Amino acid sequence: MAHVYYEKDANPKQLAGKTIAIIGYGSQGHAHALNLRDSGHQVIIGLPPASASRAKASAQKLEVVEPGEAARRGDIIAVLIPDPVQPRVYAEAIAPHLGPGKTLLFAHGFNIHFKFISPPPEVDVIMVAPKSPGHRMRELFTEGIGVPALLAVERDASGQAEPNALAYAQGIGCLKAGVIRTTFKEETETDLFGEQAVLCGGVSALITAAFETLVDAGYQPEIAYFECLHELKLIVDLIYQGGIKYMRYSVSDTAEYGDYTRGPVVIDAHVRETMKRILADVQSGKFAQEWMEENAQGRKNFLALRARAADHLIEQVGVELRKMMAWNRPAEELTAAQASARR
Ligand code: NAD
Ligand code: MG
Repeated sequence: MAHVYYEKDANPKQLAGKTIAIIGYGSQGHAHALNLRDSGHQVIIGLPPASASRAKASAQKLEVVEPGEAARRGDIIAVLIPDPVQPRVYAEAIAPHLGPGKTLLFAHGFNIHFKFISPPPEVDVIMVAPKSPGHRMRELFTEGIGVPALLAVERDASGQAEPNALAYAQGIGCLKAGVIRTTFKEETETDLFGEQAVLCGGVSALITAAFETLVDAGYQPEIAYFECLHELKLIVDLIYQGGIKYMRYSVSDTAEYGDYTRGPVVIDAHVRETMKRILADVQSGKFAQEWMEENAQGRKNFLALRARAADHLIEQVGVELRKMMAWNRPAEELTAAQASARR
């Protein structure tokens, strides 16, 4: 079973006198920065002069400098910018300031594990990855509640990598909930596999295929939307609250019988074989390489896929049906707010 750290495992004085440089002020960056500052740590923010996030960080009375300056002054340098842009920012602004006593911290193992970033041997490399979107983590922190996180040490040059990571995890509030020890390899590979097989890829494809099956068979798209997409939230909420067993306890016996007898027919041996192939592509680095090349080439294919998916009948039906849901804040409005928060 996993090793879990709690408050008692951290030394609150471990980072005394140290400066924590947070590169990026997006979802994770703003939450880490504000939580660490409120926990009494010395925090500076690294952002390019043109970044719109600068005003937000300044409004919170945080000191904002250029990424290179932050990396120079930071003892712990937290790289909290989008994964595809990390290698360039690392090479240009961070690498020139690395040396003994410096720590690089990540919230996802992607670039270190797949070696798009290769720090020099005298630098500590650690990960503290909260299992929550940044905004939720910040909100809960102000209520005195922590979210769980994963912690890993890729390189311990100083002999202080783990105590430093624990003090950081404490500073952002995660030790209140518990922090699970992992490795960069395990976090990265399971994260990519989970989002591809289940959370994003698997679920979206399952919903869409079932929706198309009903519509092709002559059923109304609106009805298909409710049955195959809308009601998923009710089911996932039950699973989140009490596991699959609790969901099965809550639905009708008819639904439960269909679940046991038909679920494995949909997700059959062939799908399991496919999942192994997806995992193999994650493990070999094939997927990571493909995605970084896609980014290097201007994301044309990615943007085309995004545009095509956004045009699907299920989305058109959804826009209309969600107008019937007065309790559901329109996602169109929400996405615009999120996009502006990230800029
Ligand atoms: P984000 O997309 O919210 O980051 C945007 C921020 O990065 C903005 O402040 C922007 O100004 C800054 N930025 C963009 N390009 C930059 C550049 N060239 N130089 C300097 N700053 C730049 O990112 P995020 O979702 O917070 O992800 C950060 C890291 O956290 C990633 O490694 C991600 O995998 C990991 N992570 C994210 C979440 C999440 O919920 N979003 C959860 C766990 C881990
Ligand atoms: Mg994940």
